[in-house]
Amino acid sequence: MTLHVVPSFSRIGEENAFAVLARATELQRQGKDIINLGIGQPDFPTPDHIVEAAVKALRDGHHGYTPANGILPLREAVAADLHKRFSVTVSPDEVMIVPGGKVTMFMAILMFGEPGAEILYPDPGFPIYRSMIEFTGATPIPVPIREENGFAFSAEETLSLITPKTRLLIVNSPANPTGGVTPKAEVDKLVAGLARFPDVAVMSDEIYDQMLYDGERHVCLLSYPEIRDRLILLNGWSKTYAMTGWRLGFSVWPKPLYENARKLAVNSHSCVNAAAQWAGLAALTGPQDAVSMMLAEFDRRRKAVVSGLNALPGVSCAVPKGAFYAFPNVSKTGWKAKTLASALLEDAGVATIGGPDFGVHGEGYIRLSYANSLPNIERALERMGEFLNRASPG
Ligand code: PLP
Repeated sequence: MTLHVVPSFSRIGEENAFAVLARATELQRQGKDIINLGIGQPDFPTPDHIVEAAVKALRDGHHGYTPANGILPLREAVAADLHKRFSVTVSPDEVMIVPGGKVTMFMAILMFGEPGAEILYPDPGFPIYRSMIEFTGATPIPVPIREENGFAFSAEETLSLITPKTRLLIVNSPANPTGGVTPKAEVDKLVAGLARFPDVAVMSDEIYDQMLYDGERHVCLLSYPEIRDRLILLNGWSKTYAMTGWRLGFSVWPKPLYENARKLAVNSHSCVNAAAQWAGLAALTGPQDAVSMMLAEFDRRRKAVVSGLNALPGVSCAVPKGAFYAFPNVSKTGWKAKTLASALLEDAGVATIGGPDFGVHGEGYIRLSYANSLPNIERALERMGEFLNRASPG
């Protein structure tokens, strides 16, 4: 038997974080004590009032399909929330509710990717950008994200990579895996430069937009009217409200693209599950103290992780200004990043992700998620120190 699966499936990639999670779980099953700093999800439960809203929605009979683009009260709440936080005017008709942040990138890359087209994406960056670009047959063009630039993207370098074939530019701040935050002046420069390239669409992944530290303020790309007609905003509830398993995200689309996205929804998931949408509404309109509490706790851990990492032999860690990741430079340990990450898991019982899993420019770094308790983080740092002092580079 020969099944003729289309060749694009030989090009689709993965997120290695899930493979590391599977290996960590397997080691735990064998009785090993593993501290997981690999996975990128808050370790807090979803706040009670959000869970209760979902339960109530089910009890109230919200069991059927909803409109493919999401229930109107939720789209209105998203628009109101964006207005409250960034003073931007968004119509609920531009907002689409989707099952998770990933779905927006899936749709946007499908809309612009085809053989011959080029799509720019951050490297190191979220691995699904490149995977999806390759899936469509488009050429992935990495935009290097550099430590010496505070892991912000450089407007000048980004603009220099645009060619007549460029269809879509993906930006991400605060960023995974680096925790980098791009300053407003750099975003201003990028937007000004984009005036020279009116046919390039922009997808801004702002899933970590409420996770900034040290008084940094988030720069939402919706605040630039000059690119609104070609800007796709990716956001969602996963990180801010500790709702990764609910599968709830939203996008803001320029009018001409909205119908394409809505039709993709009709052709794939139909709509997001109704109870999750009512929960999302409670998240946006209810008390925000759980968000502040989680952020304050992440900040405490961030400081512990950075100072702990900087005390390890051969390791130096820039202070991440956003998200919940540290991206230490491990090149002076003598280890290749992926070999080190896997030795740390197998030998020291600490799960991290090798930088190259986020792109070629990730070599020399590993990613630690500090979405774990402070005592666990301290134990992990101790084990890493003990390991680095004992083991010779493999
Ligand atoms: N974008 C970035 C930068 C992320 O780090 C993640 C998740 O790790 C996502 C999007 C996807 O979020 P979701 O779990 O809501 O699909």
